[in-house]
Amino acid sequence: MILKAKALLKRYKVRPHPFSLKSLTLTAVNVVDLEIKKGELLGLVGESGCGKSTLGKLLLLLERPDAGEIWWQDTCLTTLSPGKLKSWRRFIQPIFQDPFASLNPKHSIGQILKEPLIVHHLGGEKEREKRVAQILQEVGLPPKIKHVYPHELSGGQRQRVAIARALILEPQLIIADEPTSSLDVSVQAQIINLLLKIQTQRQITYLFISHNLSLLAEIADRIAVMYLGKIIEIMERKDFLSAHHPYTTLLWSSVPTLEQKKLDIPVGEPPNPLHLPTGCCFHPRCKYVKEICKKEEPPLKEIKTGHWIACHLF
Ligand code: SF4
Repeated sequence: MILKAKALLKRYKVRPHPFSLKSLTLTAVNVVDLEIKKGELLGLVGESGCGKSTLGKLLLLLERPDAGEIWWQDTCLTTLSPGKLKSWRRFIQPIFQDPFASLNPKHSIGQILKEPLIVHHLGGEKEREKRVAQILQEVGLPPKIKHVYPHELSGGQRQRVAIARALILEPQLIIADEPTSSLDVSVQAQIINLLLKIQTQRQITYLFISHNLSLLAEIADRIAVMYLGKIIEIMERKDFLSAHHPYTTLLWSSVPTLEQKKLDIPVGEPPNPLHLPTGCCFHPRCKYVKEICKKEEPPLKEIKTGHWIACHLF
């Protein structure tokens, strides 16, 4: 185990409309337990707005949880002071969906890549230059690119720079939030292949956040499924295609295949997260709903080795 989240909770106060005097509570991450094993690629999947990006930000300590703990091996990160936390940040690095938004447009690529080394006081100027040249080569970019600015690059090149920036601190865990969804389909495969090559070469652990089930079924070692701020199923890749939770089944039914070009099951909309359902949060959309589902929240339980599910059917 490299990272462990225990009962993570994150809530936001939101106004239902701009003139509203009263604010409501939105629970983005609702008491989540999650373990990331060393060296694995853990996929995190769910519909947009289910809380997977917020969970990613909590694990990166970019946002503080309202409750719960995050453990990095034997260290509880959530109790560290900002000063002490800084030295841990280099071990957990992000790659975001939109590389254009995450790269400073006023800095050259060389400056962008050197900045993390400067912040963490790593190496002198000569070593930093050498490191930038090495990392550009590793992500398949030519050395001269260090002189150009983000707007002069293609989307795929910008995402390679974002990957290089994450790698330059030699992290042990990368949290990649939809790292290919803003790219052309032809470039997506190149970036995925690059990330997988880096994982093999450096033995890096990934938390790979995506809404693309087919992709995770190809590349992930394990997959966690999130719904309305909760993890409702975790399994190994071999069990993903035949996943058991009614929500995971519903997600798979929305993926077009060669035989089935359009959806044959109405997927429905998730409930308003400002008014979470009682009991099982999936019960308003579940075709197997029973009386108990409306009253009691099902705990996450292990139905076979490595396969956890939160559903009263099991
Ligand atoms: Fe459906 Fe009940 Fe299982 Fe929830 S607990 S997914 S409502 S069967």
